[in-house]
Amino acid sequence: MNVAAILKGKGRAVATARPETTLQAVTEKLTAKRIGALVIVGSSGQVAGIISERDIIRAIAENGAECLQRPVSEFMTREVVICSEADTLEELMAIMTAGRFRHIPVVADGALVGIVSIGDVVKHHIAEVEMEASALRTYLLAG
Ligand code: AMP
Repeated sequence: MNVAAILKGKGRAVATARPETTLQAVTEKLTAKRIGALVIVGSSGQVAGIISERDIIRAIAENGAECLQRPVSEFMTREVVICSEADTLEELMAIMTAGRFRHIPVVADGALVGIVSIGDVVKHHIAEVEMEASALRTYLLAG
């Protein structure tokens, strides 16, 4: 299973915000969409950063709630690890585990075309394991 197959199931919509968006507006968007991260995009749609609920908790802990009125660009992660549609589920699991993050934007020809979360990865991994178990059971019963 690769990223293209995952996107086929979940769609290509990505929740984004511009760097000048306040942290308050970001928290509202995350809450409204029931998600854990937004990709921050520049004027031509390029990936400029990522902000997750963890960054917001850290920002409040370090700066107090006043930071919610400041732009997200001050708190986002700028070095974003991205993946391509050809990357496999196993590669994504390894990247998320090594980097200790739960979201990977998908980029094709420099454009943002999707996002894969740890939830998507776990869901597809369980489906793969179940299919494998079922195939093994069929094989054993046939023997
Ligand atoms: P998350 O597990 O997605 O809530 O993110 C944990 C931390 O990793 C936060 O500081 C995020 O800004 C950062 N992060 C999330 N996704 C990525 C990514 N794809 N590349 C780099 N950093 C990320």
